[in-house]
Amino acid sequence: MTLSVRHLTLFAAKRAIYPLWDVTLEIGREERLVVVGESGGGKTSLAWAMLGRPLPGQSLLRGEARFDGLDLLALEPEELARLYYRQVALVPQNVQDTFHPTQRLWESAREVLRKESRDRVRRGEVLAAVDPLGKRLDVAASLWDSWPHQLSGGQKQRMGLILALLNKPKLLVLDEPTHALDELTRAALIAFLREWQSANGCSVAFLTHDIGLARSWGQRIVVLYRGEIVEELPAGSAGAPRHPYTRGLMESAVRLGDVPYSRQAISGHAVALRGEPEGCGFCERCPWSEPLCARERPVLAGTDDHRVRCHRLTTLPTARAASVR
Ligand code: SF4
Repeated sequence: MTLSVRHLTLFAAKRAIYPLWDVTLEIGREERLVVVGESGGGKTSLAWAMLGRPLPGQSLLRGEARFDGLDLLALEPEELARLYYRQVALVPQNVQDTFHPTQRLWESAREVLRKESRDRVRRGEVLAAVDPLGKRLDVAASLWDSWPHQLSGGQKQRMGLILALLNKPKLLVLDEPTHALDELTRAALIAFLREWQSANGCSVAFLTHDIGLARSWGQRIVVLYRGEIVEELPAGSAGAPRHPYTRGLMESAVRLGDVPYSRQAISGHAVALRGEPEGCGFCERCPWSEPLCARERPVLAGTDDHRVRCHRLTTLPTARAASVR
């Protein structure tokens, strides 16, 4: 096991909300896990907290995140710093945060390559180190002499990824890594990531709102809604989604060739969790809700590889086949 997250619960005092509630998941060695959910569902909070650094304004109420046995949430900042960009790496959604605004890009890459704080790494060594990945990700060598503000969103996205991959981490966390990219670049990046992951034996947690991408890229999918896991299933055709929220995500996913407006959106909006969940978090948006759903929080139940948090699991209508191609 590379990462084991147990009962992770976060509180954001300023907004008085719980961004994550009792999240438990595991990422195996060389596994590709995809975490899916809408914006505001807790993906970014999870990405940072499972690497030991809850987002600013969020505090750990309970839980742990063990990487190779070490609880990242209990480590001192210096201990964490020794792991980042070496054993574990995060490509955040706001990838510009990866780069120091007053450093040229190659200097940010030098920070990642530097093994000890007193090591000096020359510009030429940095450029030689980033070159193979730059060639694969279509990043011209001259861009490393730029300042972060001179780059487009897509360039920053790819250069942030290069920094994360430079030291071949054991665990890579990608938070919406394709959101600033056009379709072609996105497809190339996804293909590259798959190849790189299998060549380097890295475990990957990929966080996205795109369930079609999750099913094609991941091996296992965790669906997050309002800070709770509502379904965990194998990717691909073997794991037909069963939770009404996951099915709603599939129904609403737009794909090339669709008749305009033919997709069915999930009604309503997710409301942030403001206290211990008393019923099902999806109750107000669920077409199959019944009185019990508002009264009792369903447990995550099922088989080892497919678990669902829903009271009506055995009585729900069958999902429409092949909603996502
Ligand atoms: S528990 Fe009830 S409200 Fe929640 S997803 Fe299942 S059927 Fe819908």
